[in-house]
Formats: sequence, structure tokens, C-alpha cells
Amino acid sequence: MPPSAGSSRKSARECNIQVAVRCRPLNRKEQDENSPSIVECTPQLSKITVKGLKYDSKTFAYDHVFPPETSQVDVYETLVEPLLDEVLTGFNCTVFAYGQTGTGKTHTMEGVRSSDAVTVEDPGLGIIPRALYQLFEKLEQTTNEFSVRVSFLEIYNEELFDLLSPLDQYQKLRLFEDSRSKGSVVIQGLEEVIVHNASEVFGLIQRGTEKRRTSETKMNKASSRSHSVFSVTVHQKESSMTGEELLKTGKLYLVDLAGSENIGRSGAKKDRAREAGNINQSLLTLGRVIQKLVQKEQHIPYRESKLTRLLQDSLGGRTKTSIIATISPAMCNLEETLSTLDYAFHAKNIKNRPEINQKLTKKALIKEYTDEIEKLKRDLLA
Ligand code: ADP
Ligand code: MG
Repeated sequence: MPPSAGSSRKSARECNIQVAVRCRPLNRKEQDENSPSIVECTPQLSKITVKGLKYDSKTFAYDHVFPPETSQVDVYETLVEPLLDEVLTGFNCTVFAYGQTGTGKTHTMEGVRSSDAVTVEDPGLGIIPRALYQLFEKLEQTTNEFSVRVSFLEIYNEELFDLLSPLDQYQKLRLFEDSRSKGSVVIQGLEEVIVHNASEVFGLIQRGTEKRRTSETKMNKASSRSHSVFSVTVHQKESSMTGEELLKTGKLYLVDLAGSENIGRSGAKKDRAREAGNINQSLLTLGRVIQKLVQKEQHIPYRESKLTRLLQDSLGGRTKTSIIATISPAMCNLEETLSTLDYAFHAKNIKNRPEINQKLTKKALIKEYTDEIEKLKRDLLA
């Protein structure tokens, strides 16, 4: 793709959001209760069939279907590795994990470590550590100058918190419209940490996760109601033979959403949740934004929640977006499983127009001229 000044319009081709479904194994509780598995995965055809006793069976098709035995590395390689190459090219990419509490959103995004010494060989690692590990592996193979920054934040009850600030600091962050770029936002005070290798990032993820956990107890939060957003920004400077410099910026958002159990199939609030005063404005708005994008409505209510303001560009914007919906296979979760499958099926219809963030600078050329002038000056004085 030929470089051009500013962001490249040439790459703005419409593409659908990619949707994958991951079904976890039956857990101990479901097994003890003899709740049978009612989900049948056909990964070759990317299909899922739900067989409830009182229901007719229902089949859904997605871009990818991951059956219970799927490993963390398989999920990563199928869904996220291709996005990493896009980030390195200068695209913004987002992965959302959506689903009922206890179905594997955090397991998929962060995963579990078998020991404190994290290596990429650990089979339990989720998408975030794997993506960072591979990012540095790929960057080290280029001749480009690069920098990598990460941030990790939490949205709870429509308030934003920094998960990378010290453990005892829990100030609310403020979200502003970015006057330089339409539709994007800046978060005042959010720590953006420059990282130099994957192990540094593993430490940060651990810190963020720990902070998410401790604040839960301290501030009496229900973890199922919080959203976490991990972001990685990669700046690269590529020098061409002609002395031009190409600046590319790619961003990857990895989002672990709140539990979907209080939101109905169309994104409407369930009575149960309404009675409990249990409104998750961000999750509710996300559902409505998806619905309105699918219906191709003029007005999309991005501004009605923090999550959708922050990730506006990932929904119907210039970002490449994937959703991984997580489900339980058990009969006892049938209603929520159908709700998640419906939601994910709907989201497949959203179209984005990804664009590369790159610009050319003549800096190298100017430096060449300056050097030449200096040389001529010296020659004159000699
Ligand atoms: P959520 O974040 O959606 O609430 P978790 O990721 O915390 O759910 O998962 C709940 C439990 O189920 C955890 O103990 C997790 O390790 C386990 N689990 C989730 N998905 C899987 C999976 N695909 N394979 C094995 N265990 C899983
Ligand atoms: Mg979780």
C-alpha cells in the first residue's frame, strides 16, 4: 500500500466484525448437579447446536467455534495472531470477550499461570500475555525504530479506574473528547507505561489483575459487573531508501466485559436486573449500539456510556474488531447461553472500515540537507 500523508483513505474497505464462540468444559458444580451438556460444537463448519429438552434444537453459525477441548494457544493463533500483524501494519484492532459470568472471559483474556515465572510455553496463558510476547518477538525482527506503551483500566459503575497506578491509589479518571481527532477520546491521568520486553508486561498484567481483585474486596465491588480494557500502542518509524520516514501507529484493545447475565437478548434490560437496581449502563449501551449499527440507524448512542465512548471506533468505525463470546455447555445455563449466542450472532452484521494510521515525514531528507550544508560550510572555511 503506498504511503500517504495522514491516515490512508485507500485502505478503508468495509469488513464485518469477526465473531467467535468458545464453549468451556462442564465445571465441577454442573457435573455434581448432573446438569447435562446441551451444546454441540462443529468447529469444521463453525457451527454450534443447542439442544434443550423443552426447546427445539437451534443451530448458529459464526466465524469460528471453539469446542471445550480447545487450548489457549489455538484460540490465540486463530483469533488474535492475525490481528497482531494488522497492528504492526498500523491498524487499530479490538477484541471483546462477552458472556455470562463464569464462562471463561477472564480465562480467555488473561488465563492462568502455572507458576510465577511466566514463559510463553505456559499452556494456561491467555490472549493478553501471548499477544505481548509475540509482539516483541515480531518487533525484534524488524529494522524499524519502535516503542510500545500499555495501559490497563477498569470501568465500574460508569467510573474509570487505572489498574496500573499504585495499589493504594484509586482515583477516578476523566474521559475527554480528543479535539485533534473526531470521535476519539483521551483519558486524563491514565498511566501509559513504556515497556521494553514481554516479561515487563507480564509483571504489569499481574499488578493490574491484583489491583482489580483487591479493589473488589476493599470497595465492595462485584467483579462480574466490571469491564477491563487492556491497551497496547505500537509506534514504529520505518526509513525508506529515499530518505523518507514512515511513521506508523497501531493499537490493540483487549476487553474483558462485565457478565452478560443482566442484559436481555436485544440488549434490553431484564426485569430482574431492573428490580435489583442493577443497571450496567456500559453493557446495556453496548447492546444498543450493536443493535442500532445492525439496523443501520443514523444515530448511534455511543455517548451514553463510558465503554462505548472509549471504544466508539471499534464499533462501526475504523478499527478491526473481533468478539469472542464465551458459553457454558450445561443445561442449567441454557437461557443465558441462548442469549449470548443470539447477541453474538447479531453482532456479526456490524461493518467497520479499517484504516491505517501512518504518515510520511521528510525529516530524514531535511537532516541530509543540513549535513550537506554543514559539510559545505566546513569546506569553505578550510
Ligand atoms: P468469567 O471471567 O467469564 O466470569 P472465568 O474466566 O473466571 O469466567 O472462568 C470461570 C472458571 O472457569 C475459572 O476457574 C476458569 O479457570 C474456568 N474456565 C473457564 N473457561 C475455561 C476453559 N475453556 N477451560 C478450562 N477452564 C475454564
Ligand atoms: Mg472474569
